[in-house]
Amino acid sequence: MNLNKIEGNGYRIGIPVPFPMKYVYCYLLPSDDSYVLIDTGYNYGKAREAWEEVFDQLTVDPLSIRAIYVTHFHPDHSGLAHWMQQKTGAAIYMHASDREMMDRVWGKGTVQTARIEEMMKKHGVPAALSSEIADHMDKMSQQMRPLPDIQELDHDPVFMDSSWQVLHTPGHSDGMFCLYNEQEQKVFSSDLILYPITPNISVWPGASQRPLHDYHLSLQKIKRLPVKTAYTAHGEPIHNVKERIDELIEHHDQRLKQMEELAGGLTAYQIASTVFAHRDLTPHQWRFAMAETIAHLHYLEEEKRTRTWKDHEGTIYNEHIHKTVT
Ligand SMILES: [Zn+2]
Ligand SMILES: [Zn+2]
Repeated sequence: MNLNKIEGNGYRIGIPVPFPMKYVYCYLLPSDDSYVLIDTGYNYGKAREAWEEVFDQLTVDPLSIRAIYVTHFHPDHSGLAHWMQQKTGAAIYMHASDREMMDRVWGKGTVQTARIEEMMKKHGVPAALSSEIADHMDKMSQQMRPLPDIQELDHDPVFMDSSWQVLHTPGHSDGMFCLYNEQEQKVFSSDLILYPITPNISVWPGASQRPLHDYHLSLQKIKRLPVKTAYTAHGEPIHNVKERIDELIEHHDQRLKQMEELAGGLTAYQIASTVFAHRDLTPHQWRFAMAETIAHLHYLEEEKRTRTWKDHEGTIYNEHIHKTVT
């Protein structure tokens, strides 16, 4: 069992996910005679078994969990929200934007998969791979249903004997939030800052088309705050938050430069094929590689470092404006 006590009597719990990052870290935190939970995990057997084991081992009655804060709508965080709500009877809170995305992306009658397939094709992904990406996404949607009852997060949560400030930090998703405690200088930072992996910043239909700009602003927001520990949702907790933020900004700057240089009348797919050439990507990974490439290309275009045009079929090409990139 992947479970650690954190300062102040809460628990950091690694729940398995069927992805290379292996775990999503959820937090079970005391609040008077009950608990609150931050994030729930991905909806599959191994994760549900892990939770049963955690409740047994800690002798925590699931009914003593009174509130669940789901930091964003991604399946590794929100997938088990319905199951957990059934088990605990707890209220589930999300930011309004991601509450809406839950329904739009995973709800019944969703057209998100078709829109992603369309986006892929427009950016040069071959038809066969575009449809594989859509099939994979469809399967994931099925695992997300039924959706839980979700309330809009409209209050500063109270747990561990203090009130936690909600910081809206879009970029990784439009409605992602962190929970910050100034006195303790701690933040539950979800997927905003991670170590050693870097958070995926992607463009999706129906969401912000300038997520990298949003992400930069969110990082600046956190960088201005005194923080001793960031409790992250993947990898290790981070103690050198400001340095890690600088590294993340540098990582995206490098990637922007690389893509700017590659953009010599190419599609996002052609650019991504070079950037990710060292890896043999599955359709699921291609979806993220493409969405991340498009996010960087949107940034470059908005910053007037590249321009785009469409051919007669509507395929989008990218061209850098300055020939020499330093
Ligand atoms: Zn995420
Ligand atoms: Zn995550």
